[in-house]
Amino acid sequence: MKALYNSDLQYQPLADRNTGKNCGFYNAVKLQQSTVAYTGEITLSCPAMVALAIWERHELQPLAQKIFGQKVKQVRHFGTYACRNINNVGNGRRSQHATANAIDIAGFVLTDGTDISIQHDWQSDSDKSRFLHALKDSACEYFSTVLGPDYNSLHHDHFHMDMGFFEICK
Ligand SMILES: [Zn+2]
Repeated sequence: MKALYNSDLQYQPLADRNTGKNCGFYNAVKLQQSTVAYTGEITLSCPAMVALAIWERHELQPLAQKIFGQKVKQVRHFGTYACRNINNVGNGRRSQHATANAIDIAGFVLTDGTDISIQHDWQSDSDKSRFLHALKDSACEYFSTVLGPDYNSLHHDHFHMDMGFFEICK
C-alpha cells in the first residue's frame, strides 16, 4: 500500500471481502481520481492499482503525447472485479478478476474527442493501431499477464491485464 501514498492518485481503501469460493479481495482500493477518467468503477488489489497507475503515467500518457500530440482523457473498460471463472467457463479456474487483480481495457478517448478502440483499430494500418500495439507491449512491463486480440478471439475487443502468477504477454 505504501507505493500509493506517494503518488498523485486518490483512492479509497475498501474493507476486505469474501464473496464466495476463491472470490473477494484483500487490501483492495477503489479509484477516485487519476490522470484520466475511467468509464466505470475501478476496484483493484493494491499491486494491480499500482501497476495501472504507473503504466498510465509512464506509458499511456507519454505514448499519446508522442503519437497524437495530446493526452488521453478517458479510458473505456469492461470491468475489474467480478466473481467468475476464466472466460466465464462453468467449471474452470477462477479468473484474476475474481480477486480484483485484473482489468479489461477496451479503448481510449483523447483530449480532442478522438476515439481509439481495440476492437476497431487494432488491425488497421494507422497511428491508432501503432499506439495500441505499443501500449500493449508496454503494459507487459508492469502487469504479469497481458492478453490482447493476438491471443484469441475472446480478446478481440480488449486488453486483459492482471497481476497473477503467470507471466504471459500475447
Ligand atoms: Zn480480463
